Amino acid sequence: MNIDLEIFSPVHQINDKLFDEQGLTVFIKRDDLIHPIISGNKWRKLKYILKKAQAENKTHLVTFGGAYSNHLLALAAAAAKFGFTSTGIVRGEPVDNDTLFLCRLHGMELLFTDRDSYHDKQALFEKHFGGTPNAFFVDEGGAGPEGAKGCSELVDELTQQYDHIFCACGTGTTAAGIINGLQQHKLNTQFNAVPVLKNGSFMADEINNLLIHTVNYKLHTNYHFGGYGKTTPELIAFIKKFTASTGILIEPVYTGKMLYAIYDMAAKKYFKRGSKILAIHSGGIWGLLGMKDKF
Ligand SMILES: *Cc1c(COP(=O)(O)O)cnc(C)c1O
Repeated sequence: MNIDLEIFSPVHQINDKLFDEQGLTVFIKRDDLIHPIISGNKWRKLKYILKKAQAENKTHLVTFGGAYSNHLLALAAAAAKFGFTSTGIVRGEPVDNDTLFLCRLHGMELLFTDRDSYHDKQALFEKHFGGTPNAFFVDEGGAGPEGAKGCSELVDELTQQYDHIFCACGTGTTAAGIINGLQQHKLNTQFNAVPVLKNGSFMADEINNLLIHTVNYKLHTNYHFGGYGKTTPELIAFIKKFTASTGILIEPVYTGKMLYAIYDMAAKKYFKRGSKILAIHSGGIWGLLGMKDKF
């Protein structure tokens, strides 16, 4: 089976009085529309991982994540679509929630593990699948060089040049891939990474490890809103207003923080007048299901 998806990821303009006042044109690349479940950067990251598994004749994918992980769900659906079986090793006490329901529906077997053993993923893989020759290890979040390679292809799809590109960062794999793509196309675009974790300056090491050439980019570490998965009433209010005025769903863990950064920086006159800005909608809207109580 050929492991590929036809990419549908149009670029839409975001209209807002703030951007008019500042003389900015802001666009959003809709990677969230690539697939309803294998959405956004998760498909781009999984593509070459799945191809590698297939080339090695592996038929069972084993991966890791928290109970609300977009990666677990994307992998469950991608495995089902491309003829693999799958196991998700989930951090924490056995629970059930909407994300895990959807994982199971796609045929994923779930194994729960305590937080201590979760730290050593290779050991967990050995313990449960050491004797299973067709099992294939997929790192949490699809991190690594195959993931970055898939994400670099986003840049091949761009039909105009931007002064700025913005992307939310968890592991930094998506950011690194896009930076590599910009470099390959010799584009003079400022890349802006928005870490969604606290103390995000460590993200530079994660990104730099996956870069093909050393390149300058910007890390905006002040938009974590308290840390991974944390929110504030201000962030939630922003998300509600954004979605109600654009018709584009975003969520608080990744895309909400990245878009908030663009609006905040525009209000603070960070951008030169006339700048063209592209936000990457990296998908993940199912994450909203775990955060309904915040709204
Ligand atoms: C997983 C995820 C990210 C983080 O991507 P990294 O490559 O780990 O930095 C960003 N946005 C969304 C919507 C995600 O689900």
